[in-house]
Amino acid sequence: MGKFIPLSIPNFEGNERKYVDQAVDEGWVSTGGAFINTLEANMTEFLEANGVAACQSGTAALHLSLIECGITPDDMVIVPTLTFIAAVNPVRYQFAEPVFMDCDDSLCLDPVKLKRFCEEECHIEEDGNRVKLIHNGTRKHVKALVVVHVFGNMADMEAIMDIADKYGLYVIEDATEALGTYYTEGKYAGKYAGTIGHFGAYSFNGNKIITTGGGGAVTASSKEKVDHIRYLSTQAKDDPHYYIHNEVGYNYRMTNVQAAIGVAQLEELDEFILRKNSNYEYYKELLKDNENCILLPFRDGVSSNKWFYSIFVNENVKEFITSLEDKGVQSRAIWGLIHEQVPYRNCIAYQIEKAKYYSEHIVNIPCSTNLSKEDIEYVSECLKLGRIYA
Ligand SMILES: *Cc1c(COP(=O)(O)O)cnc(C)c1O
Repeated sequence: MGKFIPLSIPNFEGNERKYVDQAVDEGWVSTGGAFINTLEANMTEFLEANGVAACQSGTAALHLSLIECGITPDDMVIVPTLTFIAAVNPVRYQFAEPVFMDCDDSLCLDPVKLKRFCEEECHIEEDGNRVKLIHNGTRKHVKALVVVHVFGNMADMEAIMDIADKYGLYVIEDATEALGTYYTEGKYAGKYAGTIGHFGAYSFNGNKIITTGGGGAVTASSKEKVDHIRYLSTQAKDDPHYYIHNEVGYNYRMTNVQAAIGVAQLEELDEFILRKNSNYEYYKELLKDNENCILLPFRDGVSSNKWFYSIFVNENVKEFITSLEDKGVQSRAIWGLIHEQVPYRNCIAYQIEKAKYYSEHIVNIPCSTNLSKEDIEYVSECLKLGRIYA
């Protein structure tokens, strides 16, 4: 067997097996049980949030957030085009219309173009005390905005929240890649990704910084909203004994077995973030004089969880990835743009430039928490050899 360094694998060095055994021994394996409550309480404390509802996936977390905003088929939701498609699909689950935005150099939503879109493509209607942003072309109500904190970086939330406040937009933070990322400076100093907007969605899929196999969580700007989301996620059951339902609910609740893994993983999150950071710094040092493959920085004034490491590659990305694969190094291209995917080709995409450019040049490199120094040295050597323009 030759060398193989995977892109990102989970790390179960803690109490995962112990807690799962406990859940199974006690017979609490489904959508009720103490580990679910513990995970919600521990996450609430970690994030200093108003509460957390644990659910089946990050996608479910995003869908529940859109439902809680009251998104209907008459609404438009602003989304990024450079992202994983799960950030966008829930807009369609509500039969609403996505409108695609460009990114800035952080790979996250560009606030400058967001503002321009609101100013030049839309107008304001007063609706009682509430401002309504109406899209000129379709007359649809632009009601919400999904902002993704890409690869553990933080989007420019100060600028984005200012625009959202001005135009009465709900802000749903897709923090599925950014659990543990927070501002160290500015208006939101000390605030975690997902706790700045009206809703925050997290994911515990196998590739995320902590995992429950599959799972997710939501937080919101009030405890009442979190509680209502939890209620919707459990089939909107109003009476525990007599099956009374006053709303349409969903089967989106996390199971106790998932939560058992989650409680153990959350105990290790700080350690994972430390390792991700020190591994990133080591890559940075080893790659610093390398002009044709540049390690992307994270935003200043932010402490990032450094979930994924991106390099900017100045050559054919497919060939680059294959040449790494031949040397036993797994890497991955960034996503294809969502507005170019079959279900979204007819949607409005507003002045997409940087997203196109970055989608053709970004590759993610191995970033598991258990990478050794030797692994990082080996990958860095391969990255340098991978250059065509040597
Ligand atoms: C992982 C991810 C999701 C979805 O999370 P799941 O738990 O897999 O449903 C959504 N958005 C982004 C940006 C993601 O990376």
